[in-house]
Amino acid sequence: MSENVRNVIIIGGGPSGYTAGIYAARAELKPLLLAGYQAGGQLMLTTEVENFPGFKDGIQGQDLMEEMRAQAAKFGAEIINEDVTEVDFTQRPFTVKTYSAEYKAHSVIISTGASARWLGLESEKRLTGSGVSSCATCDGAFFKDKVVCVVGGGDSAMEEASFLTRYAKKVYIIHRREGFRASKIMLDRAKENPKIEFLLNRVVEDIYSKKDGFLESVTGVKLKNTVTGEFEDLDLDGVFIAIGHIPNTGIFKNQIELDEKGYVLTQKYTYTNIEGVFAAGDVVDTRYRQAITAAGMGCQAAIDATRWLEDQGIHT
Ligand code: NAP
Repeated sequence: MSENVRNVIIIGGGPSGYTAGIYAARAELKPLLLAGYQAGGQLMLTTEVENFPGFKDGIQGQDLMEEMRAQAAKFGAEIINEDVTEVDFTQRPFTVKTYSAEYKAHSVIISTGASARWLGLESEKRLTGSGVSSCATCDGAFFKDKVVCVVGGGDSAMEEASFLTRYAKKVYIIHRREGFRASKIMLDRAKENPKIEFLLNRVVEDIYSKKDGFLESVTGVKLKNTVTGEFEDLDLDGVFIAIGHIPNTGIFKNQIELDEKGYVLTQKYTYTNIEGVFAAGDVVDTRYRQAITAAGMGCQAAIDATRWLEDQGIHT
C-alpha cells in the first residue's frame, strides 16, 4: 500500500476535531487534521467561555481553541488550515481533496460542526461578540439585568429565551409569524414566564449600536411588521439569534448517510454507515451542541478509529 496513505484524516478544526487530534496523535496515528480556513469552529464567534471545565475564571473562546490546537500539534498532529472540497468514501483508502491537495486515508473522522443560521444583516455580522450572539448558554451571563431579544420561533428560541431570563430583566421573543415550530411544552413555558414578551409578525431589519472608543455595543433593533409593513424601534442590549443551525455536511452528500436535516447519522458509538469513517461533534449532534460534548465525542471518535485501525491490522 502507498506510503502516502494516512492512518486518519480529521476534517474540522473545532473542539471535536482538535480533541480527536490530541487522542489520535497520542495513539501515534500521526493524524492529518484539516482544520479549514476559519479554523476554531463556533467558539471563535464567542467571547468568554465560562462553562468549559478546567477554567474556573473562564477563558476566551479563541484562546481555548488555540490551546486545543497547540495541544494536538504538540503530540504530533499535522494541522493544515485548508477547507475540504470533496471526499470519496466509495473505495478504500478514502480520498480527501482540498483546493490545493489530494490526500488518501485509511480512516476519516468527520468533525465539521454546524453553523448557526444567521439573519444575514451587515450589522448582525459586525456586532457578533459585541451584543449579538447565537448562543445563550455561552453569552447569557453577560446580560445581567439587561434587556435582550431572541429571534426565532422554534424550540431553540424558546429554550434560549427561558434560559436568558436567569440573567436579563426582560426578554423579547421576536418571531416572523404567529405560528410556532416550537413544541407546546417549550412554548407554554416561555409564555408563562413573566420576563418574556412575544413580538409576533416581526422581522429584524437592522441592529443599532453605539461606539465607546473602540468598543461597540448593541443599543436596539429596527423591526418590520410582516403584516402591516410598519417599522418600529426597540431599545435593548443584546440580540440572540436562534433561527436554527445548519450542519456542515454539504461535501458529504451522496457519500455518507445523513438525516433529513443533513446531520451525519451515526450507527453505534461514532461509527457511520461507511466502515472506517467516524463522525463527532455538532455535525451529528442535534441536542447538546456544547464545546465540551463536542470535545468528548472527538475523543470517542479517535478511540473508535484507533481500535478499528488495529482490528484491520493497519496500525498496531
Ligand atoms: P427550527 O425548529 O428550525 O426553528 C427555527 C425558527 O427560526 C423557526 O421558527 C423559523 O421561522 C425561524 N427562522 C428561520 N429562518 C429565519 C429567518 N431568516 N428570519 C426569521 N426567522 C427565521 O430550529 P431550532 O429551534 O434550532 O430547533 C432545531 C431542532 O432542535 C428541532 O428539532 C428542535 O425540536 C430541536 N431542539 C430541541 C430542544 C429541546 O427539546 N430541548 C431545544 C432546542 C432545539 P418559521 O417557523 O416561520 O419557519
